[in-house]
Amino acid sequence: MRKFNHPVKPTIVVFDLGKVLLDFDYSIAGRRIAAQSKMPAAAVQKFLDQTPLLHRYETGLLTRQEFFEMVCAQTGFRGDINEFSGHFADIFTEMPEMTALHAAIRRKGIPTYIFSNTNDLAVEHVRRAFPFFANFDGYILSHEVGAMKPAAKIYDALENMSSRRGAEILYIDDRRENIDAGAARGWRTILQIDPARTRAEVEKLGLLD
Ligand SMILES: [Mg+2]
Repeated sequence: MRKFNHPVKPTIVVFDLGKVLLDFDYSIAGRRIAAQSKMPAAAVQKFLDQTPLLHRYETGLLTRQEFFEMVCAQTGFRGDINEFSGHFADIFTEMPEMTALHAAIRRKGIPTYIFSNTNDLAVEHVRRAFPFFANFDGYILSHEVGAMKPAAKIYDALENMSSRRGAEILYIDDRRENIDAGAARGWRTILQIDPARTRAEVEKLGLLD
């Protein structure tokens, strides 16, 4: 007979990036892009929020250059790709309670992963601007995998990269549909409401003992 030990303590921790480790605000990009375009800031922001171009870019279906050219065509942006890149990507601020929690988990010797719907402009900026971003065992990024959460393909990619399954994985994300897709595979999950509650849940699982 097989013997089960419950509960299994997670052996890795998987972090979403946006609104979990870094806050972001697309209105910053909207204002800066608008200043060099024919559209008002609110319209640029609405465009960035709603355009299917961003989804295609973050699924790896558009290159940076293609994305840039299509945004220029729609907004009348007059700057070059380097100016655009700065405006588009410099929208993040660190969430210090969460990066401290990540560091505490690392000090316990527990491997950690980034699991993010994102794009190469954002990742390049984040890597340069936020030193904590270097301290993960692996990075599962939608534009590299060719799928966005909550699609199964990107969850498969995390399981394959980490060689972990089910309750060995603890996953933190601020979006319910992403968390639900992880929970359906048997992953442990924390829906991030605020950093203090996330930390309390991590402590409850015994990861910081
Ligand atoms: Mg998020």
